[in-house]
Amino acid sequence: RVQQTSDSGYLFFGPAMNIRAKELWQLEGELRQAVNENALVLHYQPKASLRNGRIVGAEALIRWPHPVQGMIPPSRFVPLAEETGLIYSLGNWVIEAACRQIHDWMRKSIPLIPIAVNLSARQFDAQLPDRISEIVERHGIPPEMLRLEITESLLVRGAELVIPIMNDLVARGFSLSLDDFGTGYSSLAYLKKFPISTLKIDRSFVIGVPQDKNDCAIAQAIVTMGKQLDHEIVAEGIENKAQMDFLRSLGCDQLQGYLFSPPVPADRLAEMVCKDHRLSLE
Ligand code: C2E
Ligand code: MG
Ligand code: MG
Ligand code: MG
Repeated sequence: RVQQTSDSGYLFFGPAMNIRAKELWQLEGELRQAVNENALVLHYQPKASLRNGRIVGAEALIRWPHPVQGMIPPSRFVPLAEETGLIYSLGNWVIEAACRQIHDWMRKSIPLIPIAVNLSARQFDAQLPDRISEIVERHGIPPEMLRLEITESLLVRGAELVIPIMNDLVARGFSLSLDDFGTGYSSLAYLKKFPISTLKIDRSFVIGVPQDKNDCAIAQAIVTMGKQLDHEIVAEGIENKAQMDFLRSLGCDQLQGYLFSPPVPADRLAEMVCKDHRLSLE
């Protein structure tokens, strides 16, 4: 018994709904506290060049080490943070944490690679460029070392608002990647207007290659178009060699996926970079 409709048409929430609502409410409170207490962590998933197998960057992915529930993945709390508005402070925390980490690597003379952070649509307001610049400058980080991953969902804010903000970010030296490409609703109409440098092919198109002819055709079309537009192409979620071989043959530039490495703690990434750990292209 989840919910009932009364004669008057109002919804009454039964016990199951109460529990769910209470859980979410509790989780939100705990998440707010975790953000304030700096109790979240970033893991980093390396991206490898499909030309020489070397690590050419990494993506910061947030995790919540929960005292009772263990490591909570972002799929369980980022949407909640987006709904409640908490994403604003969470998003600032992520940028701050990534910059602190880059600064730490610079201090230890670890070879620098660009680090990408994910941005939600709700973070994308006119003050965003100033906010990010302030953090990056405070940590003494070259803006080229910070990449920003955005998705087409940004367009809910309106193209006339978001495109100037994107241009502002690019003018300040940050580069933009379009994440989960192909899953949005407006890909082609806006692709030429976005000042992006990188296109990330969503994992959903990668899963089926090379067996599924439709997935192969879509992957090929995305790579061809992206290259025509002078974008770097990253294939997301590559788990096996057959997928890698196929995307590499299409001319994809970089690979990010379990075949090379899952997201790992910061120290582990630094170790991989220092040892020049490479993706085997054989
Ligand atoms: P995303 O930005 O598309 O990140 C890639 C996701 O795919 C990551 O999941 C990564 O662990 C996973 N992945 C990478 N390679 C493979 C693979 O070979 N196989 C499979 N099955 N999965 C793979 P994760 O870390 O759970 O993050 C999920 C999503 O949560 C991200 O998707 C992103 O949309 C969001 N997210 C993560 N961190 C942040 C953040 O700091 N801020 C915001 N706004 N969103 C975030
Ligand atoms: Mg991403
Ligand atoms: Mg993605
Ligand atoms: Mg994805």
